[in-house]
Amino acid sequence: MSVDAKLPFLPFALPEIGEEEIAEVVDALRSGWVTTGPKTKRFEADFSAFLAGEGGDPAQFHSIAVNSATAGLHLALEALGIGPGDEVITTTHTFTASAEVARYLGADVKLVDIDPATLCICPAAIEAAITPRTKAIVPVHYAGLACDMPAILAIARRHGLKVVEDAAHALPTTCGGRLVGTLDSDVTVFSFYANKTITTGEGGMLVTRDAAIAARAKVMRLHGINRDAFDRFTAKVPSWYYEIVAPGFKYNLTDIAAALGLHQLQRARAFQDKRTALAAAYGQALAGLPLTLPPQPAAGELHAWHLYVVQLGDDAPIGRDAFIEALFAEGIGCSVHYIPLHQHPYWRERYGLKAEDFPASQRAFERMVSLPLYTRMTEADVQRVAAAVRRALGKA
Ligand SMILES: *Cc1c(COP(=O)(O)O)cnc(C)c1O
Repeated sequence: MSVDAKLPFLPFALPEIGEEEIAEVVDALRSGWVTTGPKTKRFEADFSAFLAGEGGDPAQFHSIAVNSATAGLHLALEALGIGPGDEVITTTHTFTASAEVARYLGADVKLVDIDPATLCICPAAIEAAITPRTKAIVPVHYAGLACDMPAILAIARRHGLKVVEDAAHALPTTCGGRLVGTLDSDVTVFSFYANKTITTGEGGMLVTRDAAIAARAKVMRLHGINRDAFDRFTAKVPSWYYEIVAPGFKYNLTDIAAALGLHQLQRARAFQDKRTALAAAYGQALAGLPLTLPPQPAAGELHAWHLYVVQLGDDAPIGRDAFIEALFAEGIGCSVHYIPLHQHPYWRERYGLKAEDFPASQRAFERMVSLPLYTRMTEADVQRVAAAVRRALGKA
């Protein structure tokens, strides 16, 4: 095995933060507005404009900045009135945040299997899991590839269910030529966590067209106060008065974080071009190996390429864990997305789940590896990873 000891460690993920982001953060620090203020407002307006696109009307969207996607998902379900006795359907093949927010509200979670071809939630499995208690569906655009939203929205309409898209991976992703965030669901939630396609360190955005949902989410974002601190301190008249109308949360985004988001959002298209090019380079370099490569988007659709997930074939000479160790030994970080929720003690025990009930997720989990994919990688980095993959598979 030829391992070049001089190569630095190639981590699984890294953010790309430029001088503009840094200057904007410094500006926030010098301005006196460190928590939610003018930069957060601008970030929300820019986000709506991003979704509306050239010539579109940003006013049709309410973009509400929050301090995580988890917070946004919680606010979304809360605004939709999800509570004890209700059931929320989501995929087992996701991060626990997609599901845990229903539990915050006392609702139950029905985990369902994925489509093995896309690793996104399986519409037929959703329909089979619906009971009289079902209130909402939380689809996850896995790795940045859109779910089958036409099928999911049709099921929701047929059964009178709400749809909250977990778009943590999906900026920018399209479905039927429309950006995720502009589809016909009730709410869409994006994540700006450190390893996502754009980052504010920690942060997220709740997007809805529904003015009532937006109003409720805004109130609950900040302690159930009926006007936010920014309005209070920028009012032209003395405005110490406010009212608490609900036991709300502390989910507002800081201006320090929004400062990052303003410039990250401007770079979202360029970042995606880079991720798409790197994914294409992986596709060429890994062709012909005993691997299943990730599904491609349909012609003309955007894939955010948050993750590049391969699955070891039945003919691979080593298993998933040994494969990850082999790459680590060559200085390459990998990950697994995800350990399915049905495998975790909390979800397994609470709902008595068995791996056999989720055959597609279980099978994918046992073979899957997420290779490094981020904008600071070069095509040479991709070739380095691909060479290590070939060696691990005995095909050097
Ligand atoms: C990252 C992620 C979240 C949570 O995002 P935070 O901003 O960290 O709260 C939710 N769902 C999925 C699928 C994620 O990958």
